[in-house]
Amino acid sequence: MTVETNLARIAKEVSACTKCALHESRKKAVVGEGPADAEIMFIGEGPGFHEDEQGRPFVGASGKFLDQLLAQAGLERMHVFIANVVKCRPPGNRDPKPEELDACDEFLEAQIKAINPSIIVTLGRFSMGRFIPGVKITSVHGQMRQVGERFMIPMFHPAAALHQSALKPSILADFANLPDQLEEARKVLGRTARPKKEKAALQEDKPRQLSLF
Ligand code: URA
Ligand code: SF4
Repeated sequence: MTVETNLARIAKEVSACTKCALHESRKKAVVGEGPADAEIMFIGEGPGFHEDEQGRPFVGASGKFLDQLLAQAGLERMHVFIANVVKCRPPGNRDPKPEELDACDEFLEAQIKAINPSIIVTLGRFSMGRFIPGVKITSVHGQMRQVGERFMIPMFHPAAALHQSALKPSILADFANLPDQLEEARKVLGRTARPKKEKAALQEDKPRQLSLF
């Protein structure tokens, strides 16, 4: 099975999922998006209002800020994979509950396994807690650490930095370090840069993915 087929299967399962109570109030599940061979995967918390409307991750205010952060790190959104720890919107943007995180974990796990990124950047504490429990974001943000066969970098959530301007210099600095960290991760993992597809080729992939079902 190709990675694309695998991701399409996960997307199909998520869109029909009723494993936790969040399915009752969602408009659209948000499985995540990006190229199947992305070297960097960003993992946020869960869909907000606009994400739930559109079925796409990070399309509201924090998404715009994320786009800016990526751009100033010389990265393009179309070259990274963006997902969340819960795929359906918690009503009123409340925190996801432990049982919801647990229920949704298998999808995230399957996405990570399929994409096999060199770096996972966690955005915010729920995502960080899933990979690096028991640490404080204020003391570890921006630091890359190896966890098994890949590297993790915890970062503040873009929405937190939007609301607390004191965090903004930190999140900017952390994103600015990403290109060097990616080089370092490639070196340690013995991987070379994955060839970047052009926009047209990436868009072409979409209908093909969906037409599999
Ligand atoms: N915040 C998140 O954590 N994820 C999204 O997709 C949007 C906002
Ligand atoms: Fe299923 Fe995850 Fe949505 Fe819960 S949040 S219904 S586990 S897809």
